[in-house]
Formats: sequence, C-alpha cells, structure tokens
Amino acid sequence: MLTVAITTTIPAEVIFAAGGKTVDLNNVFIADADAAGLVETAERAGLPANTCAWVKGLYATARRSAAQAVVGVVEGDCSPNAALLDILAAAGMKIIPFAYPRADDYAAFDRAIGELETAFGVTRAQTEAMKKRFDDARRLVKIIDDAAWQKMNIPSGVSFASQLLTTDMLGDLDRALTELTATVKKYAAADNSAGADKAPLAVVGVPTMIGDLWDVIENAGGRVVYHEVPHQFSRADFIGADVVETYRHFTYPANARRRLAEIVAQCEKRRARGIVHYVQSFCHRQLHDLLLRRATDLPVLTIEADRPAPADGRNLTRIEAFLEQLR
Ligand code: SF4
Repeated sequence: MLTVAITTTIPAEVIFAAGGKTVDLNNVFIADADAAGLVETAERAGLPANTCAWVKGLYATARRSAAQAVVGVVEGDCSPNAALLDILAAAGMKIIPFAYPRADDYAAFDRAIGELETAFGVTRAQTEAMKKRFDDARRLVKIIDDAAWQKMNIPSGVSFASQLLTTDMLGDLDRALTELTATVKKYAAADNSAGADKAPLAVVGVPTMIGDLWDVIENAGGRVVYHEVPHQFSRADFIGADVVETYRHFTYPANARRRLAEIVAQCEKRRARGIVHYVQSFCHRQLHDLLLRRATDLPVLTIEADRPAPADGRNLTRIEAFLEQLR
C-alpha cells in the first residue's frame, strides 16, 4: 500500500482516495518511547542545536520511515519545516510539496488541492467521496469535543488525543472509527460529572513537548475545553462541507489575525476561564504571544519547552499557581 508521510495537516482525503495511507511524522515522533533520543539523532546528523525540536524529531522520524513519499507543507506552516524538506530531498526522499494559500480565497484553495490530486492521480469526485468517510470520524470527534466543553466530562488528554488522531486517521480509517467510537461510549455518552468542578481552560499554540502536561493541568484542578491546534487539525466544524471549504477555513497556517479571531471566539463560546499558551523554543510563533495577549481579556499563562520531557519544576509551579488563581 502507498504510504505517505506528512509533516502537518494536509487534505489527507486525497491520499486515502488514491488507495494510500498517511503517517503523521509528528504523531509518530512524539509517541516514540525515546522521542528525546530522536532529537539527539538529528543533532548528531548535523541539524543545529538551536533548531526547533519538532523539526529535529520530524527529520529523524522521516529518515527511518518506510514511507514512499513525504507530503510537506512549504507555505503557511513554518520556514524551518520547508528547509527540512530540502534536507530530506537531498537525502533521497521523494517530496511532494503542498502550499496553503495565505488568503482564504476559494479559488486558490481549489487550485492547491487540485495540484495535490494531480500528484496522486485522483479526481475531485474521489476526494469528495473520501471526505464523506472522513466526516464519519469527524462526527465522533465532534461529539467528544462538544462533551469536553458542554459537560466537562472528557479528561484533557483524551479530548486532545481524539482530535489529534484525525491528522492521519491512524493510517487506517476503520481503526480510527473504532477508537473514536470506544471513546464516545466510555466518556462522552457516560453520566460522568467528575470534571464539573474543574476550571475550564483553553490551550493554544503548537503541540506541546511536555509529555505530562494534561496530567499536570488536571491535577492542578484544570480541564482543557479547547485544544486550539488539534481542534483545527480535526476540521470537525466542517462536516458536510466540500473539501475546499473545509480546508479554506483552516486558520492554524493562516495569518495571525484570522487565527487569533478564531481563538477568541472559541474561548468565548466554551466559557474558558484562562488560556495556557504553549510556545516551542526556537519557534517563530512565539512572537504571536504578544498579539494573543492584546486580543483577549482572559488571563494568559505562557509556558515554554525545548525537547520532549515531563514538565520541569518551573512550568509545574507556574501552572499550579495559574490554576489556583483561576479557581
Ligand atoms: S514548533 Fe514552530 S518552528 Fe517548530 S515545526 Fe512547529 S511551527 Fe515550525
């Protein structure tokens, strides 16, 4: 089977419509028992120490992957990631570029998705048929995500993982549906009010390297009711929409203005009492912290980490103090 590695969310429906499967290198890297070791492998291969650890982890994960091609986002995601694709191409890997248009222009997204379809030899009708199947998974994700903020009965780590798996649908749509159905039964449909007294939080920013962040937040009396980036990845607000419309409103790779407006609207809707902004060492997106603080009236706690590890003492203390203040 055609296996395609991806470096961030792309319209994966196209790959599945071509009879292939996607593997999100981010998910494989961060789930590895020795994720920190993968970062060191990349450094030994020559990637600079002052490069974001996600890029280094993606490099090491891609190099050992059996994928026949890598679809990488060359515009709208991040410039170090675009440079990573050059390094992987130089190492002999087949790279298929995908560029997110900067403006939310329908025709521009139509062209970008059309180019990906051409690369994989599929028609728009085939992509749309696969989109319907992806939407079955998205419906389950929406049940879980809605329960997370409406009933507060989904542990923070469970809602995070349920939304995140949509990036590559675990490379197996049937398995993704089975796992999501089990989560709906276990948590979303259960009469469980264990989270009702917790402080509702939004967590925004790039996916965290802090392996126990969700436990730290839960133990300190918080519950994440909005995971910005996994929610964006899931496209669960666009069930039934066509594939262009679905990805046209993907604000994570968009400009800061659109992204922040979405964060503010979601925090309001979900009645979040505070925002934890995770920033990655050596990531240009750290600069958005300033704009986030201007855009919202909610208290914001900014935490930073470099490489995969449990929360260090400083982040632990700051999260506990923030939750104490909110509660
Ligand atoms: S954390 Fe920042 S620098 Fe690193 S891959 Fe993501 S967007 Fe790029």
